[in-house]
Amino acid sequence: MAWFRKDKKPLKAQDRRDVPTDVFDKCKGCGEILYRERLAQNFNVCPDCGYHLRISAETYVELLIDSDTFEEMDADLRASDPLGFVDSKPYPERIAAAEAKGKSEAVLCGTGELDGIEVVLSVMDFSFIGGSMGSVVGEKIARAGRVALEEARPFLIVSASGGARMQEGIYSLMQMAKTATVLARLHDASIPFISILTHPTTGGVTASYAMLGDVNLAEPEALVGFAGPRVIEETIKQELPKGFQRAEFLEEHGMVDRVVDRREMKEMVATILRHQHAGWRP
Ligand SMILES: [Zn+2]
Repeated sequence: MAWFRKDKKPLKAQDRRDVPTDVFDKCKGCGEILYRERLAQNFNVCPDCGYHLRISAETYVELLIDSDTFEEMDADLRASDPLGFVDSKPYPERIAAAEAKGKSEAVLCGTGELDGIEVVLSVMDFSFIGGSMGSVVGEKIARAGRVALEEARPFLIVSASGGARMQEGIYSLMQMAKTATVLARLHDASIPFISILTHPTTGGVTASYAMLGDVNLAEPEALVGFAGPRVIEETIKQELPKGFQRAEFLEEHGMVDRVVDRREMKEMVATILRHQHAGWRP
């Protein structure tokens, strides 16, 4: 049985180069190298430790919505550059670079059926300028909310955001009020709004629609907060408790209703909507 004890030779630099980087992902939870296709089949949840890796808006739509029922809305809305903003590069160039990666904005909106229930949903995508909320994100979410209102369909928002898009200054902050107003109208009409918080949901998104759900669900270990922990520690001059701003901590303290594994999210949302059914059906 000598081969059991055979020393493993480290990979030579040459061998390492032969491993295609687009085939594998490393799990941030357990460090395991995972075959990307297997990971995708599991909705980007690590099969070994359950860590929830980042997921695209399109994949989240696939996860929640019955196949062949999704119809995208407002795909052609594009940001303007009202402030002529330039940081390391002009804002229009930043938008163009983000678009070149195949997304049109940081949110994908549409209608579809979730386990046979007609819904409207908006899913944010962190890969587009950090999921930042500019005027297009706000407008698309407000329009989606209005469709939910007009057609009396439950509304879902899946959030993933670094906060307001600083390149649009006050225009991005105004989206907080705009989206919150539409959600208030849904509330008045007794149409359910479910907010799903994914890692990370921060800044102006947390301070507006993300925390306004009739039910707020969060993925395991998602960071959800307004300011980051370092800023808070420096401001209040206190060490923050362990797990602060993580989904489980927020559930324990009543900010989040339930932490739900992504693979069970559809079933959970369907169950909640069926419970509320009598309230919203016209
Ligand atoms: Zn893992």
